Amino acid sequence: MTNTVAVASSYVTIGTTGCPPYDWSSQKTPNTARYQYYSWKITWPPVISTSKIYVGIYGANGATNSNPIMGPIGLSVDGVPIYSNADANKLDAYINEGSSFDTVGGHPDIHYHEETANNVVITNTSGTSHSPLFGIMMDGVPIYGPYGDNGAVPTNLDACNGHTDSTYGFYHYHLPANRAFPYTLACLSGCVYNAQDSSYTVPSTCAKSSTQYDYSSFKWSSSFTKATVTTVSSARGGRVGRGSDVWVAYAATVASTLAALLL
Ligand SMILES: [Zn+2]
Repeated sequence: MTNTVAVASSYVTIGTTGCPPYDWSSQKTPNTARYQYYSWKITWPPVISTSKIYVGIYGANGATNSNPIMGPIGLSVDGVPIYSNADANKLDAYINEGSSFDTVGGHPDIHYHEETANNVVITNTSGTSHSPLFGIMMDGVPIYGPYGDNGAVPTNLDACNGHTDSTYGFYHYHLPANRAFPYTLACLSGCVYNAQDSSYTVPSTCAKSSTQYDYSSFKWSSSFTKATVTTVSSARGGRVGRGSDVWVAYAATVASTLAALLL
């Protein structure tokens, strides 16, 4: 069974406190933002699978997905988790929780269900160039903002909002343009090393697609290596201040490659 891998042979560890880079303190949700101390093992380099992992409220062909992932499905470059379109009741998070999103697009414990407001995580490059890196999904596949080559909305995205283009020849995802459904991603195309939430159990094997990509040209965003110390504001009752420490560690097997890639 040469095309079956034990989920993934290599991974990176990404750590973050999950604190957003903006002032979230005006939020009115019943939840409280707090330090999370995330430390996630994420497949690296990504391994594309023959099957998709449906993370949102719909599965293949629009059928209801009875088992969406209700916790993190990825991590934005500012260290804040990315969620699917499913809320805690397996319903559309935008419809049912959208009123609690702040002006940036997050809510506590801070996570993003959609593209964030411009200039917070990434800057809009509509009409000019390919969007910058928005984050890394839990299958290791990078996700960029909504715009592909020359700042145009891509027309060749697959069911998981993934494609290759002239800017990046490796398979990557895009956020939906105009915050359209599924807001983040409907599915993941790669093999997952670790789940970040108990609502998803990683299968013991992952069938590897015959089509794979060379990620050696991928550049981690500089924010993945920054080590800004975050202060805890006592004025907020011990709740967190702004900005995460975000770091990337890596397995020895990929250390030499990644060390060269880190900006
Ligand atoms: Zn692209």
